[in-house]
Amino acid sequence: MSVALDLATLKDRFTASDRMPLVFLGHGSPMNAIQDTPFSRAWTQLGRSLPRPQAVVVVSAHWMTRGTTLVDVSAMPRTIHDFYGFPEALYQEQYPAPGDPALAREVVSLLASHHAAEDDRWGLDHGAWAVLKFVFPEADVPMFQVSVDMGRGLDHQLEVGRALAGLRERGVLIFGSGNVVHNLRARRPGGQPLDFAEAFDTLFAERLVQRDFAALADAAALGPLLTAAHPSVDHYLPALTIAGASHASDDLTFMTEAIEMGSLSMRSFVFHAA
Ligand code: ZN
Repeated sequence: MSVALDLATLKDRFTASDRMPLVFLGHGSPMNAIQDTPFSRAWTQLGRSLPRPQAVVVVSAHWMTRGTTLVDVSAMPRTIHDFYGFPEALYQEQYPAPGDPALAREVVSLLASHHAAEDDRWGLDHGAWAVLKFVFPEADVPMFQVSVDMGRGLDHQLEVGRALAGLRERGVLIFGSGNVVHNLRARRPGGQPLDFAEAFDTLFAERLVQRDFAALADAAALGPLLTAAHPSVDHYLPALTIAGASHASDDLTFMTEAIEMGSLSMRSFVFHAA
C-alpha cells in the first residue's frame, strides 16, 4: 500500500474565499471509523484545514434510490450502522450531528427537475458518519444526506452536482463519500493492486485533472474497465457529484492515494478556490 498525503500545505491553499471547497473521500472499510489509520489521520487533518461550513450536504454511496433523489429533512439524523459482521464497538458508535431541515428543503427545490423528494427516515449512514466523525469531531456542524439515483445514467450525477454548486457561495460544504474503484468481489486482503484497479484509478485521476468530466460519465466509452472497477456504480456516483459541483477556476488537490485489498481505491480529492 502506498499512501500519498498532501495535507501539509493544504491549509495554506484554503485561502480566504467565498466559495467553500468540495470534498470527496474514499471511505473504504467501516473499520477506519474506530482505528487509527493513514486515512482516518488524513480526515482529521482535513477537518483542521477546512473553513468551518454553515452546513454539510453529504452524498454517500450507501443511500441508493432508484428513479428519485431523496433528501433527508429530519432535524436529528440518526446514526445508521449499515454493515454486518463487524466488532461490537463499531455498532456502539453514535454521531449526533444535527440536521438542517430548512436547507434540506431548499435542496429538494434545487433538484426539483432531478426527481427530488423529501425523506425523514434515513439519517447518516456509515459512508457519512464513519468519515465525518474525524473531519468534524464535535458533531456540531449541521448536515444531511442526499441519495444517489441508481436508476439513471452517470451524467445525471454530474448534473446533480451542478445544481448544488451555488450552495458553495453560501458556506455549504458539498461532501461526497464513496470509492473511485470499488470491487468487493475481487478484493484480496493484503493483496497487491489489481491491474484494472490501477488502470481505472489512474484514468479517473487524469480525466479529473483535465476536467474531462464527460469522459468520466461516458459508461459506453469506459466499457469493461468501468464494469471491472464498479460492478455496481453506487460508490462511483458521489465522485461524479463532486466533479459536477466544481468551478472551472477551482484548483484540485489529491489528498490520499492508495489501492487497498487489490480492488478498493482510497483516492480522495478536494476542489478549492485558487
Ligand atoms: Zn462503502
